Amino acid sequence: MILKCTNCGNTFKIEIYPSDGEGVTCPICRADYKAVTKNGKVKLKDYIYENEDFEELSE
Ligand SMILES: [Zn+2]
Repeated sequence: MILKCTNCGNTFKIEIYPSDGEGVTCPICRADYKAVTKNGKVKLKDYIYENEDFEELSE
């Protein structure tokens, strides 16, 4: 399914339908969102970090 990133305005495709409350990351700008599912549709909510200085993920 196709989701739109409200941060960079890009659309991106995800393979797996997210469950409610699941985290979704934009592959373009790496913005983190929380997926909210309702009536078969998925909306992205700005992800709220509990801690501001979270550790960066190293790859
Ligand atoms: Zn983005």
